[in-house]
Amino acid sequence: MSDWKEGAAHDLMSLGGRFALLTRGEGSSVWDAEGRRYLDFLGGIAVNCLGHAHPVFVEAVSTQAATLAHVSNYFASPGQLELAARLKRLAGTGDAGRVFLANSGSEANEMAFKLARLHGNPTGRTKVVVVEGAFHGRTMGALSLTPKAKYRDPFLPAVPDVVTIGHSIESLEAAFADGGVAAMIVEPIQGEAGVIELPAGFLTRARELTTEHDALLILDEVQTGSGRTGEWFAFQREGIVPDAVTLAKSIAAGFPLSALITFGAASDLFYPGTHNSTFGGNPLAAAVANATLGYIEDSGLLENINARGAQLRTAIAELPYVTGTTGAGLLIGIRLSEPVAAEVRAAAHERGLIVNAPTEDIIRIAPAYTIGDAEVAEFLTLFRAALDAVASASASASKENPS
Ligand SMILES: *Cc1c(COP(=O)(O)O)cnc(C)c1O
Repeated sequence: MSDWKEGAAHDLMSLGGRFALLTRGEGSSVWDAEGRRYLDFLGGIAVNCLGHAHPVFVEAVSTQAATLAHVSNYFASPGQLELAARLKRLAGTGDAGRVFLANSGSEANEMAFKLARLHGNPTGRTKVVVVEGAFHGRTMGALSLTPKAKYRDPFLPAVPDVVTIGHSIESLEAAFADGGVAAMIVEPIQGEAGVIELPAGFLTRARELTTEHDALLILDEVQTGSGRTGEWFAFQREGIVPDAVTLAKSIAAGFPLSALITFGAASDLFYPGTHNSTFGGNPLAAAVANATLGYIEDSGLLENINARGAQLRTAIAELPYVTGTTGAGLLIGIRLSEPVAAEVRAAAHERGLIVNAPTEDIIRIAPAYTIGDAEVAEFLTLFRAALDAVASASASASKENPS
């Protein structure tokens, strides 16, 4: 075992992962402590949207750190006001929209959960509807919204009155039939589940039902937002308007920041004393988010996201083992014909390519918005080599043990 693995085992909580010891990054490359280079097509799980050490990121962090980094929520800062106005504009909330800034996806979803209570409690409605396979985070509230047994069961009892429905419009309609629903929280595309799309018309029907039952429609766009799918928000691809949306991951290109954006009447639910965060939206985080979102907008990166996404999907579909792709823009699920995703991930890492395996037959990629022809070509070469290596290993294994 190398020294760093011993150190990690000795000092860090044992929670899995830690495939390599990374020390440096530039663009879509990262290097480990031995100087090995990897092409990073996971981007810190859909976070490093400008790649690593982007000059815009470096400049924003350095300048703001040397100016004013933190002031607490007793004070406002110009960057925070600029970011809130920018998020309202990008989300299309109009004047009535409001923004709260926090530090992680889980935290933004905690606040969304509290929004559901503020909305439903006055009329005694406490149910929050979530979708099977959803991932909303690891804190107790967000975890209670996350139906995956492996994540949630060790920590039961969960926050009560969360109702899990299946991926069908009938199941959605059934959840509203009994009444008592305060809100529904849903990812437009389920990222952690393996880039799983909802059935056509599901979100539109969810919007109709929540409106009909005076329940909030809250979208968890922690992974799909901030341009990832080729629109600023995935809901803009569906032509619906939610009551609230949460953002995190790519919003500040690797600086910890998250947001809850409310629309219309949902903007009036919180009042002084009901929520806050010491670090949330501090001047440093706000400056990095403004620089990141401003750069995406000014340099037309949404177009690149759509173009590179389409280019990757077409080429990936031709590869061995691949039965299809899911997702939108640069959030791509690659479906394999066999349950060999873990082996493919490992073979990719061995060849200097970072991808991840959210399920046994799905590989997920979420590269930087800045990738060009060179990164796409290198990805395809390395990923094909990883698939070929797994195919030939399984062919020789089945020769040895014919079933
Ligand atoms: C990553 C993720 C979260 C949790 O975000 P953290 O920053 O890890 O707390 C919540 N929802 C979705 C959809 C995510 O992808």
